[in-house]
Amino acid sequence: MADGDLYDVVIVGGGPGGLTAGIYAMRAALKTVLIEKAVPGGQVAMSDGVENYPGFESITGYELSQRFLQHAQSYGMVVLQEEVVALEPGLDYHSVQLNNGDLLKAHTVILATGGSPRKLDIPGENEYYGKGVSYCAVCDGFFFRDKIVVVVGGGDTAAEEALYLAKLAKHVYLVHRRDALRASMILQQRVKEECKIEVLWNTIVTEIKANDQGVNAVQLQDVHTGDQRALATDGVFIFIGFDPNNQLVPAGTKMNADGYVVTNEKCETNMPGIYVVGDLREKYAKQIVVAAADGCTAALVAAYYVEMKKTGEAVCELPDDLLSSVQ
Ligand code: NAP
Repeated sequence: MADGDLYDVVIVGGGPGGLTAGIYAMRAALKTVLIEKAVPGGQVAMSDGVENYPGFESITGYELSQRFLQHAQSYGMVVLQEEVVALEPGLDYHSVQLNNGDLLKAHTVILATGGSPRKLDIPGENEYYGKGVSYCAVCDGFFFRDKIVVVVGGGDTAAEEALYLAKLAKHVYLVHRRDALRASMILQQRVKEECKIEVLWNTIVTEIKANDQGVNAVQLQDVHTGDQRALATDGVFIFIGFDPNNQLVPAGTKMNADGYVVTNEKCETNMPGIYVVGDLREKYAKQIVVAAADGCTAALVAAYYVEMKKTGEAVCELPDDLLSSVQ
């Protein structure tokens, strides 16, 4: 196959990780295409407000993702609005199969497909997303200063996020479907000691209600008695688990027990030339700035890999000092 038929890098997913990878790949003069099945921006594009991305005190998620996109496109990056249905790793090149039947071939692939918070699937959840319904306390908690919020879930995330929200909100109801939290003992202890958090045991949220201003109440149900009652609240934060979008991760790729791809600090998977960035990658913090940093790292490492491959040199480890010096 002529080398001209090959992409240097195919980026799958148009969130902050994928778009930042695109910026760095284009600046490194790599033949790049980014494939996104929906609107570029990923989860961020749906967020009402972002107040923790450096340089922007307040910006809508949509505008921030548009800026990422325009930045990448200013270097001529091509975006295909298609769905990737399969990724087949190969020795000479990797194959990326699209839903429309096209097959793209690439020296390297950067997977930036993110993840999805699990949903309650109750009335009001989708309708009022961004209008009081949130899946990220760090992103949206600031909008609920001195307000009343409901947190749903009983795991580590729900406990941690309830504690985070308690620093901002007037009162936090932690609604859990059982009589014991799943969270670690230390977090349970902290929740117990935080006077702003009130746990509502054996309770589920069956509906989220809103008025013109956004969310104003939830409908609760006691799981034992079936009794229903309305509870006034300004926001609902749902933390009942998060699923990485790992459907395209090739068989044999190292993943942890929760389905996140394990990489090294260069975002390399155990498959040569396949990188994972953003929320799909096992890491400490699921934040826009971290996904963007991953995108930068993966594109720089991919550029080195492609150059080594084209010059016929063995692809070896990228020296750490080079990572900081490549622009
Ligand atoms: P998780 O541990 O799976 O907990 C999900 C919680 O949501 C559980 O309490 C579950 O209730 C509840 N839940 C699930 N589906 C529900 C539904 N439909 N309606 C109402 N409640 C529902 O998820 P996670 O808290 O996101 O944590 C994921 C993993 O990351 C865990 O392994 C956790 O230890 C880890 N993590 C660790 C840290 C840390 O170490 N600092 C922080 C965050 C997360 P039940 O308890 O009844 O099943």
